[in-house]
Amino acid sequence: MSEQESADVVQKQQRKRRVQSFKRLIVVFLLIAILFPTILCMILFVKLSRVDKQLEALRAQQTETDVTQEGFAAAVLSEKDVGQHAADVTVDMIPTEGNLPENEAADAHALRADTVSANTIKVYLTFDDGPSGNTGAILDILKEYQVKATFFVTGKSEEYTPLYQRIVEEGHTIGMHSYSHKYREIYQSVDSFREDLYRLQDLIYERCGVVSTIYRFPGGSSNTVSKVDMQELIAFLNDEDISYYDWNVSSLDASGRSQSVSDIVENVTGNIRSFHTAIVLMHDANDKTTTVEALPMIIERLQAMDNVELLPITENTVKIQHTTLEK
Ligand code: ZN
Repeated sequence: MSEQESADVVQKQQRKRRVQSFKRLIVVFLLIAILFPTILCMILFVKLSRVDKQLEALRAQQTETDVTQEGFAAAVLSEKDVGQHAADVTVDMIPTEGNLPENEAADAHALRADTVSANTIKVYLTFDDGPSGNTGAILDILKEYQVKATFFVTGKSEEYTPLYQRIVEEGHTIGMHSYSHKYREIYQSVDSFREDLYRLQDLIYERCGVVSTIYRFPGGSSNTVSKVDMQELIAFLNDEDISYYDWNVSSLDASGRSQSVSDIVENVTGNIRSFHTAIVLMHDANDKTTTVEALPMIIERLQAMDNVELLPITENTVKIQHTTLEK
């Protein structure tokens, strides 16, 4: 091979190598061009679904807060209807006479004197949205003070089974508060409401061996978010022999910002003497740590009042309902 020929061969090989590395570069570039957006999409998708979940949770919390406040307002307003439902349960929806115009206060007083003779105050502590990481601590406190309460539970995974069981075994009442607690799903139709309720009732039966027959509507029976007429849902519960309970005392622990321990104690105990039956709304969700901290003080204050009885809700408990069935 002449010198010229071997120089040509070397040149060809070099060109070939250059072309090959250029090709490789293109392949790598293409791979990056395809992979990068794909990975980015996946990351964004995960983030989006997380944000979506948080939004749903916040929306639920917001609605609960709104309706909690509305519920309380409804309780105050229902004072005007009390005349019509004189012997009805609404008598205990009257939070305080101090808030009412003089003549109405006098009416309320007369009404109470007419319809309630015992001067014992029956207080029912209720906890919604659990079980959660806070439920164990709440159960411990209740046990320490020998108080029975009511837990309106939601559907949680297997790891919470011991908490459902503790609620029942330690003598508290287990009530239903919807499986999903997703307003959009539960209140979509009577069918979706029924399906959600049965799912939770089955879960409680499977894990605790009891059939729960009491219910608290997410957002209360006076909620304004349901797409279904609440009358239809109330009629359904009646058909199923399930009693629902709202509340007439709110700890306001579900309001947007975290409530201070002293505010929760005051919200629950401050006005308790105005009632004969006080159903107290509290939450044992994961973020309600101040509720747990407030609980011992709430119980101590209530137990210090000699005419207060702390009880779990039973079928004989006076029904406190923001909305009742129109006949
Ligand atoms: Zn709730």
